[in-house]
Amino acid sequence: MSFNNSSLVSKLPDVKTTIFTVMGKLANDYNAINLSQGFPDFASDPKLISLVAQAMSNGQNQYAPMQGIIELRESLAEKFDNLYGTSYHPEKEITITAGATQAIFTIIATFIHEDDEVIIFKPAYDCYEPAIELMKGNSVFVQLEAPHFGVDWNAVQQLINAKTKMIIINTPHNPSGTTWSKEDMLQLEELVKDTNIIVLSDEVYEHIVFDDQQHQSACLFPRLKERSFICASFGKTFHNTGWKMGYCVAPAELMHEFRKVHQFNVFCVNHPMQVALATYLKDPNNYQHISSFYQEKRDFFLKAIQGSRFSCTPSTGTYFQVLDYVAITDENDIDFSKRLVTKNKLASIPLSVFNPEGKNDTLLRFCFAKKKETLEKAAEIICNI
Ligand code: PMP
Ligand code: GLN
Repeated sequence: MSFNNSSLVSKLPDVKTTIFTVMGKLANDYNAINLSQGFPDFASDPKLISLVAQAMSNGQNQYAPMQGIIELRESLAEKFDNLYGTSYHPEKEITITAGATQAIFTIIATFIHEDDEVIIFKPAYDCYEPAIELMKGNSVFVQLEAPHFGVDWNAVQQLINAKTKMIIINTPHNPSGTTWSKEDMLQLEELVKDTNIIVLSDEVYEHIVFDDQQHQSACLFPRLKERSFICASFGKTFHNTGWKMGYCVAPAELMHEFRKVHQFNVFCVNHPMQVALATYLKDPNNYQHISSFYQEKRDFFLKAIQGSRFSCTPSTGTYFQVLDYVAITDENDIDFSKRLVTKNKLASIPLSVFNPEGKNDTLLRFCFAKKKETLEKAAEIICNI
């Protein structure tokens, strides 16, 4: 008897190929400028690359410890202390992961049981809901409204009930390019302080905040810190998304449970890169200027598209700028973004794919983590539409 596909029961029946894959392929097929998927088109620091090469030559090519090498965890503990004045124990409270995606998946797999509810703010990055569905939990949505994507905290309060196991937050926010204020974090702290809700704080853009704001990390708020996993991505911070290196931090009891799953999910992650990052992180100059570096790119891009028919609210964090095309067409954002890539040779990401039921706000997301030449070419196209 041969294998019968009709006996397959999909665990993710509604999941399709992600927009990043779809748009990336279209950008390649049509030889378009690719401001869709978020990745830099410039090189990572040669110092960091040579530290990796050195670690490989030194023979650090076998399995790393399950939690990550202690030197890297110590460097991260020092960074939390320097930046946020708070401590995480390098042995018990920090784990190195294969990008933030694996940290997020493992956190959800560790804590979400059947019928548990997880509150998610929409539009949301796309890796949260499939993980919740796989664990048979339920995603519950709070809609953020353009252009400011602010939170209606009364709406959040109304969703909290005995089944609420987790709230996922993400500031700076992908895809909107907005950031939460201290007031937002205090509201969240107030709502969860007498509950057993775990907070998953996706802070992969912590080093990309503009206009002299402070990043509002969950670790700055004691009643949030005691229940939060903070997830971060070296790929975003050090311009090497293809390395898929990240980490998460949490109080020891939560991290203890996380590691039970992590050890069978990946066991450990890339060893030579951990060695290199441990050394590289010791110099705060390597991460302190990333916000101003990207602010310059944001400002350059916004200036270059002045006079176009797109309108916008400047991004306050991340390396994404959302543009509104309402003055150009009444097409939905998916059709318009496809037309832009095939006809105008510029790839972007339509925001509706991150909203429930494809809510369309005539918005496209453009990644400005690009060389000046790339941004100039993109701006020229944008100004001609
Ligand atoms: N969260 C957000 C909000 C992201 O934009 C991304 C994209 N990189 C991730 C998580 C995943 O990060 P990584 O590439 O380190 O897995
Ligand atoms: N984080 C990247 C973005 O938002 C995409 C990563 C991916 O392709 N899944 O563009």
